Amino acid sequence: MKTLIYLLAIISFQMCTQVKQPENNLKMDNNSSKNNPYYSRTDRTKLTVSNAEWRKILSPDLYAVARQADTERPFTGKYNEFDELGDYYCAVCGNHLFRSDSKFSSTCGWPSFFEADKEGVAYNRDSSHGMERTEVVCKRCDSHLGHIFNDGPPPTGTRYCMNSVSLEFVGDSEKK
Ligand code: FE
Repeated sequence: MKTLIYLLAIISFQMCTQVKQPENNLKMDNNSSKNNPYYSRTDRTKLTVSNAEWRKILSPDLYAVARQADTERPFTGKYNEFDELGDYYCAVCGNHLFRSDSKFSSTCGWPSFFEADKEGVAYNRDSSHGMERTEVVCKRCDSHLGHIFNDGPPPTGTRYCMNSVSLEFVGDSEKK
């Protein structure tokens, strides 16, 4: 009898741990707004948060791109080949950056847009890596998003070449 109770206890314990696993995975996937007190899709107040603080909040991949201007490898980002209807927000702070109807199919290997939310982005001169480029940053949190080039399609002729990891997409169907 004792053995039976012992076995039942082990089985029920395993069932509990199996049930809990998906919850943990879900938390890992939906990382941008979790444990991030600065994240908001409505508050556009400028943020002044130190990199030491961001390092505690952001995933290592996002920190490297957003706070250290790293670039994700081409053709690897989750939004490179992605054409759903919705909006793109800053993965660091939640600021609105792009609408999906300004996204176009580019062959460069990174998600590309011909127009940005004017309240969403700001620009810095970037002379790093022996090139003269214009860096695009989030207007609210100053995080690195990518660069802008003048070889985009009409009507603007500009190409916002973005890192997928810096973006967070919210589909129209999710906003109810
Ligand atoms: Fe931001």
